[in-house]
Amino acid sequence: MADTIFSKIISGEIPSHKVYEDDLVLAFLDIGPLAPGHTLVIPKEPAQTLDQLSDESAAAIGRLLPRLCRAVQTVTGCREYNVLQNNGPGAHQAVFHVHFHIIPKPSEDAGLGIRWPAGKVEDGAEMAKRISEAVTTS
Ligand code: 5GP
Repeated sequence: MADTIFSKIISGEIPSHKVYEDDLVLAFLDIGPLAPGHTLVIPKEPAQTLDQLSDESAAAIGRLLPRLCRAVQTVTGCREYNVLQNNGPGAHQAVFHVHFHIIPKPSEDAGLGIRWPAGKVEDGAEMAKRISEAVTTS
C-alpha cells in the first residue's frame, strides 16, 4: 500500500497532537476539526478501508474507542458526539488509511452535519439472508 499522510504521522515524520498510542493504535487531533476535540483513531496497520483490517487491529481499536470517546467527552464537556468512519472516495474518504473520527457535537451548527435520506426496506428477508450467508465466508 502507498504511504499516506497517516503512515508519516505514525512514523513521526509528520508531527501531530498525539492523545494515545500503543503497539497497534494511535490517536491524535484532526488538523481540520469540525469541533474542538475532534480526534482521529487509526490502526498502525496500513489498511486502506475497514474491510481490509485484521481482526487483531480491529479488536484493539474496538476496545479503545469507548475509552477515547469518554476522554473527549470529559475534556470538551460535550456529552453528544458522532463516531464516523469513511471507506472509499465516494463515501468521503480522503486519507486512504483506516481511521475513526470522534467528533463532539456541541451544538446544532457545530460538529458533524448529516444528510440521511431514509428509504423503505424492500426484499428485507432476502437481503438479510444473503448478507447473513456472506458473513460466514467474509
Ligand atoms: P476522511 O475524509 O478521510 O474520513 O478524513 C480525513 C481526515 O484527516 C480529515 O478530517 C482531515 O482534516 C484529517 N487530516 C488530513 N491530513 C491531516 C494531517 O496531516 N494531520 C492531521 N492531524 N489530520 C489530517
